[in-house]
Amino acid sequence: MMNSEARVADPKDWIKGATGDWEIVIGMEVHAQVLSKSKLFSGASAEFGGEPNDHVSFVDAAMPGMLPVINEYCVAQAVRTGVGLKAKINRRSVFDRKNYFYPDLPQGYQISQYKQPIVGEGTVTIDLEGGRQVDVGIERLHLEQDAGKSLHDQHPDMSFVDLNRSGVALMEIVSKPDMRSADEAKAYVSKLRQIMRYLGTCDGNMEQGSLRADINVSVRRPGAGFGTRCEIKNVNSIRFMGQAIEYEARRQIDVLEEGGTIDQETRLFDARKGETRSMRSKEEAHDYRYFPDPDLLPLDLEESWIAEIERDIPELPDAKKARLMQAYGLSAYDAGVLVAERASAEFFESVARGRDGKLAANWLINELFGRLNKEGKAIEESPVSAGQLGEIIDLIQAGTISGKMGKDVFEIVWAEGGSPAAVVEARGMKQMTDTGAIEAAVDAIIAANPDKVAQVKAKPTMLGWFVGQVMKSTGGKANPQSVNDILKIKLGI
Ligand code: ADP
Ligand code: MG
Repeated sequence: MMNSEARVADPKDWIKGATGDWEIVIGMEVHAQVLSKSKLFSGASAEFGGEPNDHVSFVDAAMPGMLPVINEYCVAQAVRTGVGLKAKINRRSVFDRKNYFYPDLPQGYQISQYKQPIVGEGTVTIDLEGGRQVDVGIERLHLEQDAGKSLHDQHPDMSFVDLNRSGVALMEIVSKPDMRSADEAKAYVSKLRQIMRYLGTCDGNMEQGSLRADINVSVRRPGAGFGTRCEIKNVNSIRFMGQAIEYEARRQIDVLEEGGTIDQETRLFDARKGETRSMRSKEEAHDYRYFPDPDLLPLDLEESWIAEIERDIPELPDAKKARLMQAYGLSAYDAGVLVAERASAEFFESVARGRDGKLAANWLINELFGRLNKEGKAIEESPVSAGQLGEIIDLIQAGTISGKMGKDVFEIVWAEGGSPAAVVEARGMKQMTDTGAIEAAVDAIIAANPDKVAQVKAKPTMLGWFVGQVMKSTGGKANPQSVNDILKIKLGI
């Protein structure tokens, strides 16, 4: 991979300042909550929600003398994620205490990993508009505990603490400063989220805070050395990330162009005002007095245990996309839409197997996804199953129904269920393929409209009107192509 500093932004992403062009440099620290039933060092539930302090063990509340016990499943989840990021899995890692005071941190320190994280360098390939791809370097992934939450809005003159989150396992994924625009940063978080959802290691639910990012932003003259960065803390929506980066880059450019300097600091994004503001000057690692946690042994992983995890890694989005393009002749765009979620790719393949892949993709993308979206349903909740959709496509391909009627059948099956073939049979929706019957319908329309017949010779675009009339008189059952052909012959055009 290219040296981070050497990567220059696409000139279309340069920002015009009063004194010339600038580019944005972005590195992210993403906090992803590990998908696990219990916490990193205790058996308390890691489930979201619950009454305040319902999911708290003595360890999470930091009662004196309580000892942490590592949750093997959380370790496996971190390794799985590391494999998904094509990263180096470290056979030995160490848990350190990161010391700081906060009312929602009863231990007085967070157990994290510092010098020896569980996962080392890796790569995430991001997908940008126009099919452009960029590799973003991963610096490391480490495991750490989440903190609790102070509640300031429950009582006029008291604050409370809710320790349900205290001790929940987080993966902190640190990127290299390889991103050069808000769009690249947004694509990076989306891709990370997608990979972790495929792996089942983080649910990616940003509203519930399962995925949030600290965004480091600096600006420089295109291709120059890196500038001083500011860190925007805890942004939990992809849209806000884009807004925060654009605001922050503009602010830094204005300061620099007026002859000022950037102070390395921690900032907050105010979504209501769409701006970032200073929170505190940047803390340094030595402020935390990191040292190995004496309650925990170094984590030594066996090669065979890692290999077992690697064997069980599912097909990931990039590989799936390439395979769908190859196996079903799909465009990069269509394949990209279908692999956005693992479940939709799987639904697609059960429909497409043994059928026309392009047709199946069109049905999913244009009909099914649109319909699901409208009702706020996930693909797992689709009232039309893959089997039913496949049957509708078969009926169209066999010429039993037209494509348009296929959509009507889809609607009926969506609302009432049942076998598409039975719906077509019961409602007499079969397409009229008997040319004799179509001819009769055409003759009737021609006979009833001598004035239009006279006009159509001079104005062939009127043919559409005739097609419409025949379709209407046959209740939409005539094959539109046959109607067209027969009309042309009979009208002599
Ligand atoms: P800290 O914990 O002090 O924030 P880390 O090294 O863990 O430091 O994380 C630094 C983050 O800042 C990384 O994501 C890195 O890519 C990013 N970064 C480093 N230098 C720059 C820079 N000049 N501009 C933007 N981001 C940067
Ligand atoms: Mg940081």
